[in-house]
Amino acid sequence: SKVLVTGANGYIAVWLVKSLLEKGYAVRGTVRSADKAKQVADILTGYGEKLELVVVEDITKEGAFDEVVQDVDAIEHTASPFHFNAEDPQELIGPAIQGTVGVLKSASQYGKSVKRIVVTSSCASVLTPGLPEPKVFTESDWNEHAIKLVEEKGKDAPNSEKYRASKTLAEKAAWKFYEENKSSVKWDLVTLCPPFVFGPALHHVAAAESLNTSADAFYQSVVMPDYGGKSLDALRAPMSSWVDVRDAALSHVLAIEKEAAGGERLIVASGPFCWQDFIDTANALSPHPMPSKEGILPKGAPGQGKDTVHMVRYDTSKAQRILGIAPKGMEETTRDTLADYESRGW
Ligand code: NDP
Repeated sequence: SKVLVTGANGYIAVWLVKSLLEKGYAVRGTVRSADKAKQVADILTGYGEKLELVVVEDITKEGAFDEVVQDVDAIEHTASPFHFNAEDPQELIGPAIQGTVGVLKSASQYGKSVKRIVVTSSCASVLTPGLPEPKVFTESDWNEHAIKLVEEKGKDAPNSEKYRASKTLAEKAAWKFYEENKSSVKWDLVTLCPPFVFGPALHHVAAAESLNTSADAFYQSVVMPDYGGKSLDALRAPMSSWVDVRDAALSHVLAIEKEAAGGERLIVASGPFCWQDFIDTANALSPHPMPSKEGILPKGAPGQGKDTVHMVRYDTSKAQRILGIAPKGMEETTRDTLADYESRGW
């Protein structure tokens, strides 16, 4: 069967496309330019006609997905802006909502064979930051805080909250569209909520400086001598949770395969972290995956992460039950990420 993957050149998406191809699916991936199509094709070679790449220049355009949803059995909608540089929150919110609703609309009109649509949401749409007490968040929690902040402050809202609002609003729009149309469409909806995604990059990355947002945060915090400008205190501050990019990708595959996932919102996470945990893990690896940096990787304040009180935790039991996923641990992800840097000569 054939799966449509939007934003097929992204960090998570290239791993996802590869996982689908490895499992025997045919994949139609959308990207924004012919150059990006070529980059993906150059990475995922040897799959012949099973991999088709199509340019959808502007996902916010009415009917942008009308053609690409035809003849596919499932859709994985991953395309959405993820950066913390937007001045106007609409830069993020516009494509996030219109892209998501656009895919669902096109599928309901032209996706005659579509049985399932998976939307990549985020723990950004689940958590509420800054609570006075630690909390274990579940799929019934929504980040109303970010929406309100952006409504009230607009351009002056913190950039992280603009992104979080875009993910929350897009996911809400997806569920609203589904609820309003479920009696007439032949597909059901799954939303996946991963926290920070780390792990080796498979997609085209021109240089360490152009890593995608979450992988860049890892590189900065674990490899750069100034931890990307963080103080030692910041290294032990609680940072929500993380998951390996290969598990994030796999959860998208399982989300189209598991019947019981239909109609569900699923949090896919490995565990909470602070940067010091990854720094300690990186320094303890033996044999070291970055021989060129062995002994000189920054050390932060070793062991200080152990006392960190994690304010935001996630209940991952639903995803574990429905998808049967057991996410990788810190050591494996750290080792493979550093080995990836080493192979790129960073
Ligand atoms: P990337 O930045 O690597 O990928 C983002 C993808 O979305 C790219 O294909 C990008 O295309 C596309 N995209 C971005 N903005 C637009 C736009 N305005 N119009 C059309 N396409 C656009 O990030 P990730 O792989 O990390 O993100 C993929 C998805 O996963 C996103 O929905 C993100 O919100 C979500 N997510 C990511 C997490 C993480 O920690 N990485 C955590 C939780 C959720 P182009 O290359 O052309 O810009």
